[in-house]
Amino acid sequence: MTTTNAALFERATRVIPGGVDSPVRAFRAVGGTPKFFASAQGAYVTDADGKKYLDFVGSWGPLILGHSHPVAVKAVQDAAALGMTYGAPCKGEVELAERVVAAYPGLEQVRFVSSGTEATMSAIRLARGATGRDLIVKFSGCYHGHADHLLVAAGSGLVTHGQPSSAGVPADFAALTRVLPLDDEAKLKALFAAEGNKVAAVIIEPIPANNGLLLQRPEFLKLLRKLTQESGTLLIFDEVISGFRVGFGGAAALYGITPDIATFGKVIGGGLPVGAYGGSRAVMKHIAPEGPVYQAGTLSGNPVAMAAGLATLKVLEQDKAFVRLEELGAQLESELAPVLKAAKSPCGFVRVGSIGWIALQAGTVRSAEVLDNGAGERYKPVFHGLLDRGIYVAPSAYEVMFLSLVHTPAEITRFTQALGEVLAG
Ligand SMILES: *Cc1c(COP(=O)(O)O)cnc(C)c1O
Repeated sequence: MTTTNAALFERATRVIPGGVDSPVRAFRAVGGTPKFFASAQGAYVTDADGKKYLDFVGSWGPLILGHSHPVAVKAVQDAAALGMTYGAPCKGEVELAERVVAAYPGLEQVRFVSSGTEATMSAIRLARGATGRDLIVKFSGCYHGHADHLLVAAGSGLVTHGQPSSAGVPADFAALTRVLPLDDEAKLKALFAAEGNKVAAVIIEPIPANNGLLLQRPEFLKLLRKLTQESGTLLIFDEVISGFRVGFGGAAALYGITPDIATFGKVIGGGLPVGAYGGSRAVMKHIAPEGPVYQAGTLSGNPVAMAAGLATLKVLEQDKAFVRLEELGAQLESELAPVLKAAKSPCGFVRVGSIGWIALQAGTVRSAEVLDNGAGERYKPVFHGLLDRGIYVAPSAYEVMFLSLVHTPAEITRFTQALGEVLAG
């Protein structure tokens, strides 16, 4: 029997490359047919065949309030009725910018764009324009969207020149990006000693959450802040996941480290397409129309998207939201501990607030270099076992799970029990 899901996917593959508009959605890492979602409410998504899943993907991070929170939906409906887009300034931009600037350490100005990719791409251009330098540094294992100079992997040998990690990225572009391992102070110091004065910016996910959850030692981040400061290099915290997810001040407040530029996305748009980048007035004055660094967007600061972001931040400000998210996370962590211990092969759980990662490997993992390649294969039955039990987690071993304000303690327990069954085989 052909399911509606399978039929939709079959149609999709004819007119959309791989049948999806973002690669990881295609289930290539876990096998099987991706689920087409028809609706979602609270902590649950419903697929095209009418099957309901308890959702821990949350659209990869934005849905900290859960799906279709009534306050956000009302705000979006009201805004849309007034106008879908103006191509001119609107009050929502001012209100959201005021909130973001007030919340985040060191931020005085912020520019809204339409995705996280645009935010990091613009932040890099800003850093190059502000410093007059061309080189940038990124860390392997961190993801910053799909702009050319950030789709770069470490080169081989001692040379830190990057190699394109996607076809279509010119080697000459990648050569301007240096790639370092996370958690390696010696390599970081060596790079700054050799060419620190040529580096426009270092970009890092201060909470790397796109390749497992590679929590950094605060000392490493502090060293990074010190070295960048000393060499006139701008430090960019890519907080597209962690911003307004681990607290209002993101990782910057969590670690007490203020970057020069911060990028946002995901939660800040409450499920609508919003990205943002910001910094001090002294840095942001380089952006057009004030300065010579060009950056623009037809739909930037879109009134409907601003309303969704604003509603999300307002709800987060009430009801001790981050206290509650921490409680849910702590419950998940403590309930998972015996389950993971009893599992047949080594596994662990890494968590910060409402972001969690089930590591199908032993030991502490702080860099992409020590990620176990075999985890992908071991994850397949885990993913499908959970899916069969009506639980939706990311279709990749190296993606994190997100808790939202609408997850209940009972649902956390349901997840833990299901995972226990699946891991017991
Ligand atoms: C998701 C993500 C991006 C890219 O955001 P998009 O909205 O998908 O373009 C950039 N940086 C980080 C840390 C992300 O998690």
